[in-house]
Amino acid sequence: MSLLSIPSPADWHVHLRQKPLVYQVAKHVRAGGFKTAYVMPNLVPPITTTEQALEYKGLLHSIDASVEYLMTLYLNPALTPEEIHKAHKAGIAGVKSYPRGVTTNSDGGVESYEIYYPVFEAMQEVDMVLNLHGEVPSNPDTNTCVLNAEETFLPHLHKLHAAFPRLRIVLEHATTLAAVNAVKACGPSVACTITAHHLALTVDDWAGQSFNFCKPVAKFPSDRQALRDVILEGNPKYFLGSDSAPHPLHRKSVSTPNVGCAAGVYTAPILLPLVAHLLESFGALDRLEGFVSTFGRNFYKKLASEGLEHNVTLRRVPEGTAGLIPEKYEEDGEALVPFWAGKPLSWELVPPA
Ligand SMILES: [Zn+2]
Repeated sequence: MSLLSIPSPADWHVHLRQKPLVYQVAKHVRAGGFKTAYVMPNLVPPITTTEQALEYKGLLHSIDASVEYLMTLYLNPALTPEEIHKAHKAGIAGVKSYPRGVTTNSDGGVESYEIYYPVFEAMQEVDMVLNLHGEVPSNPDTNTCVLNAEETFLPHLHKLHAAFPRLRIVLEHATTLAAVNAVKACGPSVACTITAHHLALTVDDWAGQSFNFCKPVAKFPSDRQALRDVILEGNPKYFLGSDSAPHPLHRKSVSTPNVGCAAGVYTAPILLPLVAHLLESFGALDRLEGFVSTFGRNFYKKLASEGLEHNVTLRRVPEGTAGLIPEKYEEDGEALVPFWAGKPLSWELVPPA
């Protein structure tokens, strides 16, 4: 088999950034084989209102009008049930929750969920999706650090699901066996995104290698295997959300003891070939269509709308020929280094005729 066609793949978690980076980054959605992007709201300042979301959508549209941008709001104490109704009417697809201080631009994030129950009630009523960054902040007093931050969060997921059984919830970028099992234990209103890079990385790959460092961090080989296994099962609750999260080169590669590197792995420009390559590496190539297209679209009730359906074709790169991932992308003096820079991929996109 040397050609593979996928109907309307969708990326259910992507960071498209803001000016000036957005001009380069937004175009990479198409470059990676996608025309549907579920856009994260963690800008500075964060996207907290319908107006801001629509303004941001307008900016994205002005850069590449061929992509369907599904917008989200940033969960924060100023968000009201009224704003949820307004956002829903304006076509905003979801609300993203960040635990405080855990990842890029999350200073305004969540400490406790109870105060948001009226907002969740409204979301459940209008059938808007809640996207959870499922980690708790590190805390030496409770022995919490990046390695157990996700597992420690999971009781919050169960509590929310019990309180709002019809609210559609997505546990984003799962990295552990515990998270996979937690989502399995929930009803059909709870789903889970898996990134491409977490199918490749374990702790050893980011400890000492800043370009593989992201939040949540990749965990143990057994955790990576759990992510691969649930894709092999073809379980429709688990689908692709790339969490592609570019940072300028100088934020990823640092040389001072006092400044840490930014968390985020950049996969958007190579996304579909990368996912095909990875799935094939563990025998799941026949699950590609479900994982990148059908499962997420069914959960989000966003079948490729008329005029936006598109078949993407991949072809196998003959061994020994090109197909290397670029060392970097550069525009207006801003360099972005993609995941697996310089490495070969066994699949590439066939340019549309
Ligand atoms: Zn993210």
